Amino acid sequence: MAEVRLEGIRKAYGDLEILRNIDLDIRHGEFVVFVGPSGSGKSTLLRMIGGLEKITSGTLRIDDKVVNKIDAADRNLGMVFQSYALYPHLSVRNNLAFPLKMAKMKKDEIAGRVQAAAALLQIEHLLDRKPRQLSGGQRQRVAIGRAIVREPKVFLFDEPLSNLDTELRVQMRVQIAKLHKQLGNTMIYVTHDQVEAMTMADKIVVLKDGRIEQVGSPHDLYHRPASKFVAGFIGSPRMNFLPCKEKGSDQARTEIALSDKMSRWLPIQTTSSKGGRPLTLGIRPDDFVAPTGMPGELVVEIDVDFVEHLGSATYLYGTALGDHVVARSPNDHFHAGNAGRVLLAVSAADCHLFDAEGKALTRLEAPRSWN
Ligand code: ADP
Ligand code: MG
Repeated sequence: MAEVRLEGIRKAYGDLEILRNIDLDIRHGEFVVFVGPSGSGKSTLLRMIGGLEKITSGTLRIDDKVVNKIDAADRNLGMVFQSYALYPHLSVRNNLAFPLKMAKMKKDEIAGRVQAAAALLQIEHLLDRKPRQLSGGQRQRVAIGRAIVREPKVFLFDEPLSNLDTELRVQMRVQIAKLHKQLGNTMIYVTHDQVEAMTMADKIVVLKDGRIEQVGSPHDLYHRPASKFVAGFIGSPRMNFLPCKEKGSDQARTEIALSDKMSRWLPIQTTSSKGGRPLTLGIRPDDFVAPTGMPGELVVEIDVDFVEHLGSATYLYGTALGDHVVARSPNDHFHAGNAGRVLLAVSAADCHLFDAEGKALTRLEAPRSWN
Protein backbone atom coordinates (compact mmCIF):
# COMPACT_ATOMS: atom_id res chain seq x y z
CA MET A 1 0.00 0.00 0.00
CA ALA A 2 1.15 3.51 -0.65
CA GLU A 3 -1.17 6.39 -0.02
CA VAL A 4 0.09 9.94 0.03
CA ARG A 5 -1.78 12.63 1.93
CA LEU A 6 -1.00 16.34 1.87
CA GLU A 7 -2.63 18.56 4.48
CA GLY A 8 -2.23 22.32 4.41
CA ILE A 9 1.17 22.06 2.75
CA ARG A 10 2.92 25.40 2.26
CA LYS A 11 6.27 26.37 0.84
CA ALA A 12 7.88 29.77 1.22
CA TYR A 13 11.35 31.06 0.50
CA GLY A 14 11.59 33.90 3.01
CA ASP A 15 8.57 36.11 2.31
CA LEU A 16 8.01 34.55 -1.08
CA GLU A 17 5.04 32.15 -1.01
CA ILE A 18 5.55 29.40 -3.59
CA LEU A 19 2.82 26.97 -2.56
CA ARG A 20 -0.21 27.83 -0.48
CA ASN A 21 -2.37 25.51 1.53
CA ILE A 22 -2.22 22.37 -0.60
CA ASP A 23 -4.67 19.63 0.43
CA LEU A 24 -4.56 16.46 -1.61
CA ASP A 25 -5.23 12.75 -1.20
CA ILE A 26 -3.47 10.27 -3.45
CA ARG A 27 -4.82 6.74 -3.23
CA HIS A 28 -2.87 3.53 -3.54
CA GLY A 29 -2.12 2.65 -7.15
CA GLU A 30 -3.31 5.96 -8.54
CA PHE A 31 -1.51 7.67 -11.42
CA VAL A 32 -1.65 11.32 -10.45
CA VAL A 33 -0.39 14.08 -12.73
CA PHE A 34 0.51 17.58 -11.52
CA VAL A 35 0.03 19.89 -14.48
CA GLY A 36 0.26 23.66 -14.82
CA PRO A 37 2.22 26.41 -16.49
CA SER A 38 5.92 26.85 -15.85
CA GLY A 39 6.53 28.34 -12.41
CA SER A 40 3.22 27.16 -10.94
CA GLY A 41 4.99 25.10 -8.26
CA LYS A 42 4.77 21.55 -9.65
CA SER A 43 8.41 20.60 -9.15
CA THR A 44 8.56 22.18 -5.71
CA LEU A 45 5.51 20.17 -4.62
CA LEU A 46 6.94 16.93 -6.00
CA ARG A 47 10.33 17.60 -4.40
CA MET A 48 8.66 18.17 -1.04
CA ILE A 49 6.93 14.78 -1.36
CA GLY A 50 10.29 13.29 -2.34
CA GLY A 51 12.08 14.80 0.62
CA LEU A 52 14.40 16.95 -1.50
CA GLU A 53 12.79 20.22 -0.36
CA LYS A 54 11.85 21.24 3.16
CA ILE A 55 8.15 21.65 3.91
CA THR A 56 7.50 25.11 5.37
CA SER A 57 4.29 24.04 7.10
CA GLY A 58 1.56 21.44 6.83
CA THR A 59 1.64 17.67 7.12
CA LEU A 60 2.82 15.10 4.60
CA ARG A 61 1.77 11.51 5.22
CA ILE A 62 2.78 8.37 3.40
CA ASP A 63 0.60 5.47 4.54
CA ASP A 64 -0.57 7.38 7.59
CA LYS A 65 2.96 8.03 8.76
CA VAL A 66 4.01 11.67 9.00
CA VAL A 67 7.19 11.93 6.92
CA ASN A 68 7.93 15.69 7.07
CA LYS A 69 11.18 15.01 8.87
CA ILE A 70 12.10 11.67 7.27
CA ASP A 71 15.12 11.74 4.92
CA ALA A 72 14.55 11.31 1.19
CA ALA A 73 16.50 8.03 1.21
CA ASP A 74 14.21 6.58 3.89
CA ARG A 75 10.89 7.43 2.23
CA ASN A 76 11.10 4.49 -0.16
CA LEU A 77 10.38 6.50 -3.29
CA GLY A 78 11.73 6.10 -6.81
CA MET A 79 12.46 9.36 -8.62
CA VAL A 80 13.00 10.04 -12.31
CA PHE A 81 13.92 13.48 -13.60
CA GLN A 82 14.19 15.23 -16.94
CA SER A 83 17.96 14.74 -17.00
CA TYR A 84 18.84 11.06 -16.93
CA ALA A 85 21.93 11.46 -14.72
CA LEU A 86 23.36 8.04 -15.63
CA TYR A 87 26.95 7.21 -14.72
CA PRO A 88 28.79 7.54 -18.06
CA HIS A 89 31.60 5.10 -17.21
CA LEU A 90 29.25 2.32 -16.05
CA SER A 91 27.40 -0.13 -18.27
CA VAL A 92 23.60 -0.13 -18.25
CA ARG A 93 23.73 -3.23 -16.03
CA ASN A 94 25.91 -1.48 -13.48
CA ASN A 95 23.91 1.73 -13.66
CA LEU A 96 20.86 -0.33 -12.70
CA ALA A 97 22.74 -2.25 -10.03
CA PHE A 98 24.34 0.81 -8.47
CA PRO A 99 21.56 1.86 -6.05
CA LEU A 100 21.23 -1.75 -4.88
CA LYS A 101 24.98 -2.13 -4.29
CA MET A 102 24.82 1.07 -2.27
CA ALA A 103 22.05 -0.53 -0.21
CA LYS A 104 24.39 -3.53 0.32
CA MET A 105 22.02 -6.01 -1.28
CA LYS A 106 23.25 -9.56 -2.03
CA LYS A 107 24.79 -10.15 -5.48
CA ASP A 108 22.29 -12.69 -6.78
CA GLU A 109 19.34 -10.64 -5.62
CA ILE A 110 20.79 -7.61 -7.43
CA ALA A 111 21.24 -9.67 -10.60
CA GLY A 112 17.63 -10.87 -10.35
CA ARG A 113 16.18 -7.41 -9.89
CA VAL A 114 18.29 -5.92 -12.70
CA GLN A 115 17.15 -8.70 -15.01
CA ALA A 116 13.49 -8.22 -14.11
CA ALA A 117 13.61 -4.45 -14.59
CA ALA A 118 15.45 -4.83 -17.90
CA ALA A 119 12.83 -7.29 -19.13
CA LEU A 120 9.99 -5.02 -18.07
CA LEU A 121 11.51 -2.05 -19.91
CA GLN A 122 12.72 -4.12 -22.88
CA ILE A 123 16.34 -3.09 -22.50
CA GLU A 124 17.84 -6.57 -21.91
CA HIS A 125 19.83 -6.32 -25.15
CA LEU A 126 21.38 -3.04 -23.96
CA LEU A 127 22.69 -4.21 -20.59
CA ASP A 128 26.34 -4.23 -21.59
CA ARG A 129 26.32 -0.88 -23.35
CA LYS A 130 27.54 2.41 -21.94
CA PRO A 131 25.06 5.32 -21.76
CA ARG A 132 26.75 7.13 -24.68
CA GLN A 133 25.89 4.15 -26.89
CA LEU A 134 22.17 4.65 -26.23
CA SER A 135 19.49 6.87 -27.79
CA GLY A 136 17.67 9.44 -25.65
CA GLY A 137 14.65 7.19 -25.22
CA GLN A 138 16.82 4.23 -24.22
CA ARG A 139 18.66 6.35 -21.66
CA GLN A 140 15.40 7.48 -20.16
CA ARG A 141 14.28 3.85 -19.90
CA VAL A 142 17.48 3.05 -18.01
CA ALA A 143 16.79 5.98 -15.68
CA ILE A 144 13.31 4.60 -15.04
CA GLY A 145 14.87 1.14 -14.54
CA ARG A 146 17.13 2.56 -11.87
CA ALA A 147 14.04 3.71 -9.99
CA ILE A 148 12.25 0.37 -10.51
CA VAL A 149 15.00 -1.91 -9.14
CA ARG A 150 14.61 -0.42 -5.69
CA GLU A 151 10.95 -1.50 -5.69
CA PRO A 152 9.76 1.81 -4.27
CA LYS A 153 6.32 2.39 -2.81
CA VAL A 154 5.75 5.47 -4.92
CA PHE A 155 7.29 6.69 -8.18
CA LEU A 156 7.90 10.39 -8.65
CA PHE A 157 8.50 11.68 -12.19
CA ASP A 158 9.44 15.27 -13.01
CA GLU A 159 8.99 16.01 -16.72
CA PRO A 160 10.88 12.83 -17.64
CA LEU A 161 10.07 13.09 -21.34
CA SER A 162 10.86 16.76 -22.00
CA ASN A 163 14.25 16.03 -23.56
CA LEU A 164 12.86 13.57 -26.11
CA ASP A 165 11.61 14.34 -29.59
CA THR A 166 7.87 14.22 -30.23
CA GLU A 167 7.69 10.69 -31.58
CA LEU A 168 9.73 9.23 -28.73
CA ARG A 169 7.69 11.19 -26.22
CA VAL A 170 4.53 9.55 -27.46
CA GLN A 171 6.15 6.08 -27.31
CA MET A 172 7.50 6.63 -23.81
CA ARG A 173 4.17 8.01 -22.65
CA VAL A 174 2.55 4.73 -23.62
CA GLN A 175 5.42 2.76 -22.02
CA ILE A 176 5.09 4.55 -18.70
CA ALA A 177 1.32 4.12 -18.71
CA LYS A 178 1.78 0.37 -19.39
CA LEU A 179 4.40 0.17 -16.68
CA HIS A 180 1.92 1.65 -14.25
CA LYS A 181 -0.63 -1.03 -15.20
CA GLN A 182 1.95 -3.81 -14.74
CA LEU A 183 3.44 -2.60 -11.47
CA GLY A 184 0.28 -1.14 -9.94
CA ASN A 185 2.34 1.34 -7.91
CA THR A 186 1.26 4.80 -6.94
CA MET A 187 2.80 7.23 -9.41
CA ILE A 188 3.05 11.01 -9.26
CA TYR A 189 4.03 12.64 -12.52
CA VAL A 190 4.80 16.29 -13.19
CA THR A 191 4.37 17.85 -16.64
CA HIS A 192 3.49 21.19 -18.21
CA ASP A 193 2.04 19.28 -21.17
CA GLN A 194 -1.72 18.91 -20.88
CA VAL A 195 -1.75 16.14 -23.50
CA GLU A 196 0.55 14.02 -21.32
CA ALA A 197 -1.68 14.76 -18.35
CA MET A 198 -4.86 13.84 -20.22
CA THR A 199 -3.50 10.60 -21.69
CA MET A 200 -1.72 9.22 -18.63
CA ALA A 201 -3.56 10.31 -15.51
CA ASP A 202 -6.23 8.69 -13.39
CA LYS A 203 -6.36 11.98 -11.54
CA ILE A 204 -5.09 15.38 -12.68
CA VAL A 205 -4.14 18.15 -10.28
CA VAL A 206 -4.08 21.52 -12.04
CA LEU A 207 -1.77 24.02 -10.37
CA LYS A 208 -1.72 27.76 -10.91
CA ASP A 209 0.39 30.26 -8.99
CA GLY A 210 1.07 27.81 -6.18
CA ARG A 211 -2.57 26.84 -5.66
CA ILE A 212 -4.68 23.88 -6.74
CA GLU A 213 -7.18 25.08 -9.37
CA GLN A 214 -8.95 21.76 -9.78
CA VAL A 215 -8.55 18.05 -9.08
CA GLY A 216 -10.36 15.54 -11.24
CA SER A 217 -10.27 12.81 -13.85
CA PRO A 218 -9.26 13.81 -17.40
CA HIS A 219 -12.93 13.42 -18.33
CA ASP A 220 -14.12 15.76 -15.53
CA LEU A 221 -11.56 18.41 -16.35
CA TYR A 222 -12.43 18.37 -20.02
CA HIS A 223 -16.21 18.36 -19.61
CA ARG A 224 -16.61 20.19 -16.33
CA PRO A 225 -13.71 22.60 -15.91
CA ALA A 226 -14.16 24.52 -12.65
CA SER A 227 -12.65 27.70 -14.03
CA LYS A 228 -11.85 29.54 -17.21
CA PHE A 229 -8.19 28.85 -16.50
CA VAL A 230 -8.66 25.06 -16.48
CA ALA A 231 -11.00 25.28 -19.47
CA GLY A 232 -8.32 27.10 -21.45
CA PHE A 233 -5.46 24.93 -20.24
CA ILE A 234 -6.98 21.50 -20.91
CA GLY A 235 -7.83 20.67 -24.53
CA SER A 236 -6.18 21.55 -27.79
CA PRO A 237 -6.87 23.71 -29.69
CA ARG A 238 -7.88 25.86 -26.76
CA MET A 239 -11.50 26.53 -25.80
CA ASN A 240 -12.99 29.64 -27.45
CA PHE A 241 -14.10 32.41 -25.11
CA LEU A 242 -16.78 34.89 -26.19
CA PRO A 243 -18.01 37.74 -24.01
CA CYS A 244 -21.75 37.79 -23.37
CA LYS A 245 -24.29 39.11 -20.85
CA GLU A 246 -26.64 37.34 -18.52
CA LYS A 247 -30.14 38.21 -19.69
CA GLY A 248 -32.35 36.08 -17.51
CA SER A 249 -32.56 32.82 -15.64
CA ASP A 250 -34.86 30.23 -14.16
CA GLN A 251 -34.01 27.39 -11.81
CA ALA A 252 -32.21 25.24 -14.32
CA ARG A 253 -31.22 27.61 -17.10
CA THR A 254 -29.52 30.84 -17.92
CA GLU A 255 -30.33 33.07 -20.84
CA ILE A 256 -27.36 34.81 -22.36
CA ALA A 257 -27.16 37.61 -24.90
CA LEU A 258 -24.25 37.51 -27.32
CA SER A 259 -25.37 40.66 -29.13
CA ASP A 260 -28.48 42.86 -29.34
CA LYS A 261 -30.10 40.39 -31.70
CA MET A 262 -28.78 37.10 -30.48
CA SER A 263 -29.69 35.37 -27.23
CA ARG A 264 -30.00 31.76 -26.08
CA TRP A 265 -31.10 29.67 -23.11
CA LEU A 266 -28.40 27.33 -21.84
CA PRO A 267 -28.83 24.39 -19.41
CA ILE A 268 -26.47 26.04 -16.96
CA GLN A 269 -27.33 27.17 -13.45
CA THR A 270 -26.64 30.78 -12.61
CA THR A 271 -25.62 31.91 -9.15
CA SER A 272 -26.92 35.45 -9.38
CA SER A 273 -30.47 36.67 -9.31
CA LYS A 274 -30.02 39.82 -11.32
CA GLY A 275 -29.47 39.88 -15.03
CA GLY A 276 -27.08 42.07 -16.94
CA ARG A 277 -23.83 40.87 -15.47
CA PRO A 278 -20.98 40.08 -17.87
CA LEU A 279 -20.21 36.39 -18.49
CA THR A 280 -17.92 34.49 -20.80
CA LEU A 281 -19.29 31.81 -23.09
CA GLY A 282 -16.88 28.91 -23.64
CA ILE A 283 -17.08 26.66 -26.72
CA ARG A 284 -14.59 23.91 -27.46
CA PRO A 285 -13.36 23.89 -31.08
CA ASP A 286 -14.37 20.22 -31.31
CA ASP A 287 -17.97 20.92 -30.26
CA PHE A 288 -18.90 22.76 -33.46
CA VAL A 289 -21.20 20.85 -35.80
CA ALA A 290 -23.04 21.59 -39.01
CA PRO A 291 -26.29 23.46 -38.18
CA THR A 292 -29.31 21.17 -38.15
CA GLY A 293 -32.03 23.74 -37.43
CA MET A 294 -32.98 21.87 -34.24
CA PRO A 295 -34.05 24.03 -31.31
CA GLY A 296 -31.42 24.54 -28.64
CA GLU A 297 -28.52 24.96 -30.95
CA LEU A 298 -26.48 28.12 -31.08
CA VAL A 299 -25.55 29.10 -34.62
CA VAL A 300 -22.39 31.13 -35.03
CA GLU A 301 -21.19 32.82 -38.19
CA ILE A 302 -17.45 32.53 -38.52
CA ASP A 303 -15.40 34.69 -40.83
CA VAL A 304 -12.67 32.18 -41.68
CA ASP A 305 -9.23 33.53 -42.51
CA PHE A 306 -7.10 30.42 -42.18
CA VAL A 307 -7.68 26.71 -42.71
CA GLU A 308 -5.44 24.11 -41.11
CA HIS A 309 -5.46 20.55 -42.41
CA LEU A 310 -4.16 17.95 -40.00
CA GLY A 311 -5.24 14.97 -42.05
CA SER A 312 -7.49 13.54 -39.34
CA ALA A 313 -9.18 16.91 -38.77
CA THR A 314 -9.54 20.34 -40.33
CA TYR A 315 -9.51 23.44 -38.14
CA LEU A 316 -10.94 26.78 -39.19
CA TYR A 317 -9.42 29.95 -37.74
CA GLY A 318 -11.34 33.18 -37.94
CA THR A 319 -13.56 35.72 -36.21
CA ALA A 320 -17.04 35.43 -34.74
CA LEU A 321 -18.90 38.20 -32.90
CA GLY A 322 -15.72 40.25 -32.94
CA ASP A 323 -13.48 37.62 -31.32
CA HIS A 324 -10.96 35.10 -32.54
CA VAL A 325 -12.39 31.60 -32.79
CA VAL A 326 -11.12 28.19 -33.79
CA ALA A 327 -13.54 25.51 -34.94
CA ARG A 328 -13.10 21.95 -36.03
CA SER A 329 -14.74 21.74 -39.40
CA PRO A 330 -17.57 19.18 -39.55
CA ASN A 331 -16.35 18.28 -43.03
CA ASP A 332 -13.12 18.67 -44.95
CA HIS A 333 -14.53 20.66 -47.87
CA PHE A 334 -12.42 23.62 -46.84
CA HIS A 335 -9.19 24.14 -48.64
CA ALA A 336 -6.42 26.47 -47.70
CA GLY A 337 -7.51 28.91 -50.37
CA ASN A 338 -11.22 29.14 -49.80
CA ALA A 339 -11.50 31.21 -46.68
CA GLY A 340 -14.88 32.83 -46.25
CA ARG A 341 -17.99 32.87 -44.13
CA VAL A 342 -19.31 29.68 -42.62
CA LEU A 343 -22.24 28.92 -40.34
CA LEU A 344 -21.51 26.42 -37.58
CA ALA A 345 -23.60 25.37 -34.63
CA VAL A 346 -22.99 24.27 -31.08
CA SER A 347 -25.51 22.45 -28.94
CA ALA A 348 -26.63 24.43 -25.87
CA ALA A 349 -25.64 21.41 -23.78
CA ASP A 350 -22.05 21.74 -24.93
CA CYS A 351 -21.69 25.39 -23.91
CA HIS A 352 -19.75 26.53 -20.85
CA LEU A 353 -20.27 29.75 -18.90
CA PHE A 354 -17.83 31.58 -16.64
CA ASP A 355 -18.45 34.55 -14.37
CA ALA A 356 -16.30 37.69 -14.28
CA GLU A 357 -13.92 36.05 -11.76
CA GLY A 358 -13.44 33.10 -14.12
CA LYS A 359 -15.44 30.64 -12.02
CA ALA A 360 -17.51 28.14 -14.02
CA LEU A 361 -21.29 28.13 -13.61
CA THR A 362 -22.69 24.64 -13.09
CA ARG A 363 -23.71 22.73 -16.20
CA LEU A 364 -26.84 20.74 -15.50
CA GLU A 365 -27.19 18.57 -18.56
CA ALA A 366 -24.65 16.03 -19.68
CA PRO A 367 -22.96 17.49 -22.75
CA ARG A 368 -23.59 15.89 -26.12
CA SER A 369 -19.99 14.67 -26.21
CA TRP A 370 -20.20 13.26 -22.67
CA ASN A 371 -19.45 9.64 -23.52
P1 ADP B 1 7.25 24.46 -12.00
O1 ADP B 1 7.91 23.15 -11.75
O2 ADP B 1 5.75 24.41 -11.96
O3 ADP B 1 7.73 25.12 -13.25
P2 ADP B 1 8.71 25.30 -9.65
O4 ADP B 1 8.18 24.46 -8.55
O5 ADP B 1 10.05 24.93 -10.20
O6 ADP B 1 7.63 25.46 -10.79
O7 ADP B 1 8.83 26.81 -9.11
C1 ADP B 1 7.74 27.48 -8.54
C2 ADP B 1 8.17 28.86 -8.17
O8 ADP B 1 9.13 28.81 -7.13
C3 ADP B 1 8.81 29.63 -9.30
O9 ADP B 1 8.31 30.94 -9.28
C4 ADP B 1 10.27 29.60 -8.95
O10 ADP B 1 10.92 30.75 -9.43
C5 ADP B 1 10.26 29.58 -7.43
N1 ADP B 1 11.43 28.90 -6.84
C6 ADP B 1 11.82 27.64 -7.05
N2 ADP B 1 12.94 27.35 -6.33
C7 ADP B 1 13.25 28.48 -5.64
C8 ADP B 1 14.30 28.83 -4.72
N3 ADP B 1 15.24 27.96 -4.35
N4 ADP B 1 14.28 30.10 -4.21
C9 ADP B 1 13.31 30.99 -4.56
N5 ADP B 1 12.30 30.70 -5.43
C10 ADP B 1 12.28 29.48 -5.97
MG1 MG C 1 9.33 22.07 -12.91
